[in-house]
Amino acid sequence: MVQDGAAGHEQPTEKLTRRELVAGTAAMMASATRADAAPEAKEKMIGIQAGAVSFADEGVERVLDIVQERGGVNTLFLASFTYGRGIAGRQVPGQPLPDHGKQEYDTGTFHGGSYTAVHPQYFRDTPLKDFRAPELGSFDLFAEVLPASRKRGMKNLAWFEDVFRTDVAGVEQVQEKDLHGRNAATLCLNNPGYRNFLLGVVEDYTRSWELDGIMWGSERQGAFANALGSRAGGRTSDPGRVTCFCEFCRRKAAQRGMSVDRAVEGFGELEKFVRASRKGERPVDGYYVELWRLMLRYPELLAWENLWHDSLRETYQAIYEKVKSINPSMGVGWHIWHNNSFSPIYRTEQDLARIAPHSDFLKMVMYHNVAGERMVSYIDSVSQVQFGDVPKPELLEFHYRVLGYGKEPDYARLAATGFSSDYVYREAKRAREGLTGTQTKLWPGIDIDIPTAAGHSKCTPRGTRDAVVAAFRAGADGVILSRKYSEMRLDNLSGAGEAVRSLT
Ligand SMILES: [Zn+2]
Repeated sequence: MVQDGAAGHEQPTEKLTRRELVAGTAAMMASATRADAAPEAKEKMIGIQAGAVSFADEGVERVLDIVQERGGVNTLFLASFTYGRGIAGRQVPGQPLPDHGKQEYDTGTFHGGSYTAVHPQYFRDTPLKDFRAPELGSFDLFAEVLPASRKRGMKNLAWFEDVFRTDVAGVEQVQEKDLHGRNAATLCLNNPGYRNFLLGVVEDYTRSWELDGIMWGSERQGAFANALGSRAGGRTSDPGRVTCFCEFCRRKAAQRGMSVDRAVEGFGELEKFVRASRKGERPVDGYYVELWRLMLRYPELLAWENLWHDSLRETYQAIYEKVKSINPSMGVGWHIWHNNSFSPIYRTEQDLARIAPHSDFLKMVMYHNVAGERMVSYIDSVSQVQFGDVPKPELLEFHYRVLGYGKEPDYARLAATGFSSDYVYREAKRAREGLTGTQTKLWPGIDIDIPTAAGHSKCTPRGTRDAVVAAFRAGADGVILSRKYSEMRLDNLSGAGEAVRSLT
């Protein structure tokens, strides 16, 4: 387990405090006997996600001081690779700058990529070889942060996601193909070039650095759910751009006995249905019935969706086995997309019992504050397609029921209020029960100042504190303060810390 390996490589020095010395010695003994549980394993994992720019802007020691003192943080999730602003970079342009860090946006300079050295020997079997992020020069996230945080007895995980740019050298060879054969901006998990890239990243991390674990996240889903716009922001999704229909996916489908031609035909019909529904062209028997007719006529729609998620689970397994083959004490786990809280289709696909065998831990996203506007956005999307006959307020109440939520705000108020801490409690409890009988640790992702639109709810110290308390009350083994330190207000970080201190 990732918590247990932590200070195992740390040699005590005269600069260490007595407490650190005791912890370090215990961890060394544990590591020497290959024992799984060191004494500090009883401690809750209090993690925070942080990008390289924060350490470059504010100084490593200062950031570590702040997250330890205010948030009670003992574990860093270092955003080591992404082309996305969500977990790297400074505050999103257009949002108020927080009360720390450089008081300017990185508009025009943010690029993304790897924020640590790339060792080419691990990237021979992939077209993706040149992806070092340029914007911070030679600043190396791991080289700068790991020695300093280890000295404090903190644990360190590499945190990366599958978000790419379209101008990365060689990326077109590993991009997904959409329904009409066009390249997509997303990369195909069945393309050996992308699979080898992911395995290269984790091999590089495992062999090159003293890390305690690796967390990877994929915020994507299959063609059926995407065609229906079954996610926040899905309202503008293009049902003709769904993926993946590349040669590798077609071959894999055919090997499973699926008819590729029938699938393409079915998704063509689904595309027409979605476009017509969004124009308000009601089918004779209604929107919901029409979708079921398509699903029965083309069972390939669901089979293709399932193929995508099987491929994701296979990728989890491949990453897990690669890391463990090099260093069995490295923790490996996954960031589970927030869509799990909105779309029953996506929730179906997050079968924790199936993921657990290849997961030392799961970061189940439970971002209570931003969940309000995201749920509204999800409802707005599906209410113009398969639920076109259901008024939005009723549709929201239906989702509260089928997703197992209690009393949460109604449609008119939800974006302005966000979800309650009871949502965190219920989601954490559900995940805990889903993991019964497994060794997988549950680390809910807690929202601290993830940007929301003007007029929508904002995080507060009290709300943050209540969310963290709710997660632990439901049986979580830790929490991950998210999405990134560079967008968090310090008083809200202190709210999380208050909850952490109340546990002891
Ligand atoms: Zn593909």
